[in-house]
Amino acid sequence: MGLGSTRKTVLVTGAAGFLGSHLVDRLLAEGFEVVGLDNLMTGDLGNLADAGRSRHFHLEIGDVREPLRVYAEVIFNFACPASPVHYQSDPYATLTTSVLGAVRLVEHARLRGCRIVHASTSEVYGDPDEHPQRETYWGHVNPIGDRACYDEGKRAAETVLRDAVRVHNADARIVRIFNTYGPRMSFNDGRVVSNFLVQALNGQPITLYGTGEQSRSFCYVSDLIEGIFRVAMAPAIETPLNLGNPVEVTMIELARAVMQVTGREVELVRKPLPADDPRRRCPDITRARAAIGFEPAVPLAEGLQRTHDNFVERMRYSLRPPAGP
Ligand code: UDP
Repeated sequence: MGLGSTRKTVLVTGAAGFLGSHLVDRLLAEGFEVVGLDNLMTGDLGNLADAGRSRHFHLEIGDVREPLRVYAEVIFNFACPASPVHYQSDPYATLTTSVLGAVRLVEHARLRGCRIVHASTSEVYGDPDEHPQRETYWGHVNPIGDRACYDEGKRAAETVLRDAVRVHNADARIVRIFNTYGPRMSFNDGRVVSNFLVQALNGQPITLYGTGEQSRSFCYVSDLIEGIFRVAMAPAIETPLNLGNPVEVTMIELARAVMQVTGREVELVRKPLPADDPRRRCPDITRARAAIGFEPAVPLAEGLQRTHDNFVERMRYSLRPPAGP
């Protein structure tokens, strides 16, 4: 396709979201004409403040469940609420955004011949029996649980895209994104990194769900965006790729790291573990290393420091400081 040689148009759905907006900034820096689509269900226009200053960025307020009206050579599909609090607040919207959104993209790609890079998720593995998770693992998902609207929606979206590849020879690339954090995370999305940072910065107790021994693997946002960009630019990506940082930490360890970075010693309070909360999660990134040379570079302490600095800056300019969740 010769991407990058002249100014080509790309579309980012979910452009006003945490990942979508970082991706928009990266694509603008790489010299693309970028169209952003967002229905602002969970997105925040403030995330596009930098992009809005570029004459090469164009924002459409619209819904990925509707037929696309934009021509782009590559479509990055990042439209979907992604934190458990957000995606469970309107499960129907979450499921339909994933599934109908994928159907719309495939219809569009069939007519226009564009490339799709689709944001799937480690949630397709559910509460995994295999650890770390390889792309060959089929997952362990409760189809009627609280997380199902997201997990099953994302699984069905993968099915839609893979069938488009198989049946119509579409160019659809699937990335399974593991926990990612960084500047611009919403204060109130209920995610563990944002909760812990906001709590510690407000001098409030840190809320540990369950024993706090459950693990996640946190990837700094610039590392993830690098991986996504490489996936888009690669000549071909045949199978889903895990993208995430393979360093696993427990939530207790994360709480300690957050206290260190904020310089606040706060109490830890226990809260019930949410239903179907995965006990362990860690990506096996062997495939992504081989396919695109993916190698996360930002250690947790450094990424948390940058995220902390961004939170402090944003809290300073908020009219009132965010309440602890
Ligand atoms: N978690 C926690 N305290 C919080 C928010 C989350 O202990 O205030 C836990 C949650 O139960 C889960 C982990 O942190 O085990 C990651 O949660 P998050 O919502 O960030 O993402 P996900 O569960 O989708 O990986």
